[in-house]
Amino acid sequence: MTSNTSQVLKDLLDEISSRSPMTMGYPVSKDFDYSELLPFLEYPLNNVGDPFIPSTYAVGSRELEKQVIEFLARLFRAKEDNWWGYVTNGGSEGNLYGLYLARELYPKAIVYYSEATHYSVQKNLHLLNMPNIAIRSQASGEIDYDDLEKTISINRQVPVIILANIGTTMTEARDDVAKMKTIFKHLAIQHHYIHVDGALSGGYAAFLEPRPAFDFEDGADSIAVSGHKFFGSPIPCGMVIAKKSHRDRIASSVDYIGSLDTTISGSRNGHTPLFLWYTISKLGMEGLRQRTMDCLDVAEYAEFILKQAEPQAWRNPDTLTVNIPKPGEELIKKWQLASGKEWAHIICMPGMQKAQIDAFVKDLELHKAGQLALAH
Ligand SMILES: *Cc1c(COP(=O)(O)O)cnc(C)c1O
Repeated sequence: MTSNTSQVLKDLLDEISSRSPMTMGYPVSKDFDYSELLPFLEYPLNNVGDPFIPSTYAVGSRELEKQVIEFLARLFRAKEDNWWGYVTNGGSEGNLYGLYLARELYPKAIVYYSEATHYSVQKNLHLLNMPNIAIRSQASGEIDYDDLEKTISINRQVPVIILANIGTTMTEARDDVAKMKTIFKHLAIQHHYIHVDGALSGGYAAFLEPRPAFDFEDGADSIAVSGHKFFGSPIPCGMVIAKKSHRDRIASSVDYIGSLDTTISGSRNGHTPLFLWYTISKLGMEGLRQRTMDCLDVAEYAEFILKQAEPQAWRNPDTLTVNIPKPGEELIKKWQLASGKEWAHIICMPGMQKAQIDAFVKDLELHKAGQLALAH
């Protein structure tokens, strides 16, 4: 029995390690080394409840979790003393949380989001039972502001909640939060809330020049980011950060844990904040900026050589995602490409090597010549 257990694990590890370098289409970083954190696996860490209020359960990492959130608050230009957040199980939970806060503030609002929005948002809106309207997107994937303004103007009597994308899943298009604020002004909309889905580009948007309009100073009320994407984590995770004044409206105290029940989950992962804190503290602002620039370099290279094999390849400015017409199934499977109806993409996350892109382009050429089977 024991030897069988070891064999099963060994087989799984072999399979994972051989597949990992072929993940071209999904936005995960693979360049981390968290071996210094291994001893923490011997403890049942749990950051139950609100990270900013100590719990009577004291085996956890809330101090470092708070530092992670504070770092993001600074990065996202939150107002001094008006920010709050926690480490989530991923971008989807952060979006659920942002929409939940928005609903508590404006229970009668309509939610607007572009048709390029991540599939999980529809489910979240369904869970929260919030009325919502999808808005057209432009060819780039960015929201169509004319359609947005027209649609809001028809419903001027109800508060507006917008879910803005800072990096759509397919083309990494970024909606402009400042333009949304202008629309509110045009239409004299007084009650509005903007939640930013920064799952994909939220981790590095602040390092881009020009800086996309997406953060608190630009007009966001809450922002969700995935932790396993740009920062990198062996366990999926994320961060949500919101104006503290918003979260104060939903806070309720729970005697059992001695903390506030302000988070979606009760028990919360105490290990994932360690991974995020480790990366942030090792790299700092400058290291993360460099990490962004390195990825952009690789993406520029990828776009350049992909265009030679596939002239229709394209990329939105300052993004890590290179789009190509959807190739056949065998290529999609071999390189784990993410694809829609007509397009597929590769995404140049930290850890992606130029050699991998070269190998992919070689396969793409063979594939186009009908000879991919010869390549392996
Ligand atoms: C990845 C992603 C999500 C979901 O985030 P998870 O961390 O997978 O839960 C939501 N929105 C966008 C734009 C994404 O790219």
